Amino acid sequence: MELEVKTAAPKKTTLKLADYKTDFHNDWCPGCGDFGILSSIQMALMEMQLEPHRTAIFSGIGCSSKTPHFVKVNGIHTLHGRSLPFAIGAKLANPELTVICTGGDGDGLGIGVGHFVNAGRRNVDFTYILYNNGVYGLTKGQASPTLRLGMKTKSLPAPNINEAINPLLLALASGFTFIARGYSYDVKHLKELIKQGIQHKGSAYIDVQQPCPTYNDINTKDWYGGEDKKDPVTGKAMPRVYRLEGNGFDPLIKEGTSDEEIQRKINLFIEKSMEWGDKIPIGIFLNNEAASTYEMRIHHRIKTYFTSPPGRRRIADAHGQSNADLSAFFAELQVT
Ligand code: SF4
Ligand code: MG
Repeated sequence: MELEVKTAAPKKTTLKLADYKTDFHNDWCPGCGDFGILSSIQMALMEMQLEPHRTAIFSGIGCSSKTPHFVKVNGIHTLHGRSLPFAIGAKLANPELTVICTGGDGDGLGIGVGHFVNAGRRNVDFTYILYNNGVYGLTKGQASPTLRLGMKTKSLPAPNINEAINPLLLALASGFTFIARGYSYDVKHLKELIKQGIQHKGSAYIDVQQPCPTYNDINTKDWYGGEDKKDPVTGKAMPRVYRLEGNGFDPLIKEGTSDEEIQRKINLFIEKSMEWGDKIPIGIFLNNEAASTYEMRIHHRIKTYFTSPPGRRRIADAHGQSNADLSAFFAELQVT
């Protein structure tokens, strides 16, 4: 009688938080909000048990754009304002990859704003986390596109002469289908937003309010926490930041949601996204599950897209020679 040999399936190791951390030297200033965002990303990846070799983080240039160096997954530190085309290109080449893009408000909404708008239009399945502190921290605190008109931070010689962009409204107008705002010192809440952004099928934009204690002395941790406005009765600080969840706000649009209902939710989105000053809402502003992704639209045109995406195709033979056949192309150019 033959013995039946059974091979045990390889045991899947549970990844720990330490597995997502690197020992790369971090030179962010003490107290920088970037630390809270970095922790939220690492915690979200760990809780989702995302495999490092199937995950990629991209960034542009800026303090926050150093993030890929500190997360132990595939990391790509690209050019100023150009992280989105890199990230989207990688996702389209390999749709199995979990793709996250990180960067600052100067990088993403200044030089990179054209890519921001076009990323929203496509609705590729990826997550963009924008560290928003109102200044260009890496280059000594110049006013960024999100610093409000008339604000004079300690790094500016005169009050800001430009109006600010509202990134939530811009994300809505561009077509992002998941739009949220977090706060860098509410790490657990931000971690949940990041997890939901990653789970969302489509382009997710997460704006994170992030104090820059070195150059922005107005939007500080104390300011967000309402330390300058005490409750007249209790004498306690009245925090500016509050959560949308639990306040009757429902951001979900799904298949079958009526046009009237969508309009009502968009109106509420606009109202909430313009709330600023004494009250700053954080949470999910929009979660549109009904929109088709760019990948699905490609799939309708190219049926083999998911089974044979560009990233899986052989591009060279065993000798390293390209296997692209351009003969038909050259034949067309031939002059007889
Ligand atoms: Fe953070 Fe500002 Fe320092 Fe940059 S300059 S690391 S944003 S505190
Ligand atoms: Mg900035």
